Amino acid sequence: MKTNSLSTTELDKLVICRKCATLHKKTVLTRKTKAICTTCHSTLYRKHEDLLNKSLALSITTLIFFITANLFPIVTIDLSGSISDISLTSVFLTMIEKQFYFAGLLCAFVIFLLPFLLIVNFITLLLFMKFKINERAVKKMLVVLSTLLPWNMVEIFLISILVAMVKLIGYAEIHFGISFWALVLFVLIDMYMIKNISMIALWGLKERVYES
Ligand SMILES: [Zn+2]
Repeated sequence: MKTNSLSTTELDKLVICRKCATLHKKTVLTRKTKAICTTCHSTLYRKHEDLLNKSLALSITTLIFFITANLFPIVTIDLSGSISDISLTSVFLTMIEKQFYFAGLLCAFVIFLLPFLLIVNFITLLLFMKFKINERAVKKMLVVLSTLLPWNMVEIFLISILVAMVKLIGYAEIHFGISFWALVLFVLIDMYMIKNISMIALWGLKERVYES
């Protein structure tokens, strides 16, 4: 389908399949249904009940867990009486101190800066939609959100912590702190949101909010 002659409004009525790039016309869904790609049968978007308030509640919860995950040590390692507390920030600060600048900065971006930017950006755009203000800023924040999302790999970091801890069993005593459980809950809610709240649904929500 030629799209170079279509206006932005006309383009807004189309949706592209992320798996096979087939272009579809959007249709209004009824309760608890989903739109499926006619070519590869993957889900295009779902009908969400009260998407704005649910997303806002979930994102504020993730922010609380993210702050908690950063406030206290994730694990305390007791290696023959030598006790070390490891927190999220100490992971990349230690790397930078040891002059592993690239790895340290990349780690700081992936486990601290990016999740923080994603949550703050998401909460701000949802609040703007809730109070129906500043549509232009919401559009920009949605674009930022879809650009940053592929870099979201905090769950891989959690798995790498678990692998490191498993390797340490037998050599040291390991105590998981409150921040570890906060990080686990943060990752679980984050994964749930990524699976269930699509960018298409958010763009659709923006259209409905500012059109009404
Ligand atoms: Zn498809």
